[in-house]
Amino acid sequence: MTSMTSLPDHITGQVVTPGDPGYEDARRVYNFMIDRHPAVIVRCADTRDVRAVVDHARDSGRDLAVRGGGHSVPGFGTGDGAIVADLSAMNQVLVDPERRTARAGGGATWAMVNDATAAHGLATTGGIVSTTGVAGLTLGGGIGYLARAHGLSCDNLLSAEVVLADGSITTASGTEHPDLFWALRGGGGNFGVVTELEFRLHPVGEILAGFMAFECEDAADVLRYFRGFIADAPREYGGFPSWHLAPPLPVVPENRVGQPFLTMISCWTGDHDEGAQVLQGFRDAAQPVAELIGPMPYPAVNAMFDDMVPRGLQHYWKAVFVKDLTDEAIAAHLEHGPGVPTLSSAVDIYPINGACHDVAADATAFGHRDATYACVIAGMWPDPADNTANIQWVRDYYAALAPHSDPGGYVNFASEDDQPHVRDNYGAGYGRLAQIKRHYDPANLFHLNQNITPAAG
Ligand SMILES: Cc1cc2nc3c(=O)[nH]c(=O)nc-3n(C[C@H](O)[C@H](O)[C@H](O)COP(=O)(O)OP(=O)(O)OC[C@H]3O[C@@H](n4cnc5c(N)ncnc54)[C@H](O)[C@@H]3O)c2cc1C
Repeated sequence: MTSMTSLPDHITGQVVTPGDPGYEDARRVYNFMIDRHPAVIVRCADTRDVRAVVDHARDSGRDLAVRGGGHSVPGFGTGDGAIVADLSAMNQVLVDPERRTARAGGGATWAMVNDATAAHGLATTGGIVSTTGVAGLTLGGGIGYLARAHGLSCDNLLSAEVVLADGSITTASGTEHPDLFWALRGGGGNFGVVTELEFRLHPVGEILAGFMAFECEDAADVLRYFRGFIADAPREYGGFPSWHLAPPLPVVPENRVGQPFLTMISCWTGDHDEGAQVLQGFRDAAQPVAELIGPMPYPAVNAMFDDMVPRGLQHYWKAVFVKDLTDEAIAAHLEHGPGVPTLSSAVDIYPINGACHDVAADATAFGHRDATYACVIAGMWPDPADNTANIQWVRDYYAALAPHSDPGGYVNFASEDDQPHVRDNYGAGYGRLAQIKRHYDPANLFHLNQNITPAAG
């Protein structure tokens, strides 16, 4: 047992409390709409530090916030009066090129994993933005450029080291605590603090990637083309349609900067000549106003949008899963997509078929295997004065899509006010998740997340 006053004695890493230099920065997470004041932030240096924080939170009754990359839109990596286990210093990545595996610390970002694995011509599925945390993204599922080729991030998870609510340190894998391992692959941060994740890697060479921006008037043609194409597209294709305001890039006509476009973000991991033919299909559907497509390494693909979404913006997001991109759903996109309010905001329609559908629906806790798309309405803007208008845009868009979507959206894209939808958001595996929660965390120590309460059935 670790008392509040003695906590620093048990910690190798840095302990930051109110009044300390650096507290203002340390209390903040990526979404600056979140403005909370934890009692203490512990920058854990190793698994023993994590255990000390878990023991302290459990024994003191203090809220425990677990922070990996800090990108949670609802700001689960901080909390008023909470103790924060900040794992950002536990970011080592070790690659075994022979076995094609990588071990990443619980605070690593995808940029760190990408750089380490690309040195061996290898990669695994991360997200779309490389500053995002590996742990939070993987525990919720993990949707990204390589998902159609290699499955979700959680499908590539081979094992995890976890500090449980009772302070014990355990490994979860297909053979050790398989119930916990099942729950970690889609059940979010509900079961413990993951201090290390081991991933399967895949050979990934130079990628053909970039964007084509289409007039809003052509968006229906492009979306219908995409719908037909993606149904049985080669798995080397990992792109998605995305509503954006045109950024000030040399390829964008100057008088069109800041105007809305339906953009096809493309990523082709196969032969480049074949990829060029595949991408031509989009140009045949409609003439792009601007495009920038070329060969680049995977770490660069994964970082394409990093500069557009720096830390410190205001965030409000909603998400849906979709089986069929019906004409009615397309009509809703055409009505609301052109209203995308800021350069950082986007609405992305990620395909999650291909290799994601190779995994049996009950093999992991990711509860929406039968969906073809995960769609996110990601409101991101710099000025808190715009909060009301931009939140309303997200909500209106979501209300228009919901009737054409499955119940529930991706937990990692949910906002704080989505907790009432948590059962639908976790989807098919919710009952089993609640059972496993009761076993591993009966007192709900890990509750600052899209929370599965132990009492839930
Ligand atoms: C700009 C941006 C882009 C994104 N793009 C994608 C994308 O392309 N694909 C996608 O799938 N998602 C994406 N997301 C969503 C992302 O997956 C979630 O925000 C995810 O929770 C972030 O993980 P994190 O570790 O950075 O966040 P944190 O805020 O640190 O944590 C989020 C949640 O995960 C838990 N958690 C974090 N680390 C650990 C750990 N080590 N052990 C146990 N629990 C932990 C926390 O307790 C919390 O509940 C994006 C988010 C942002 C802001």
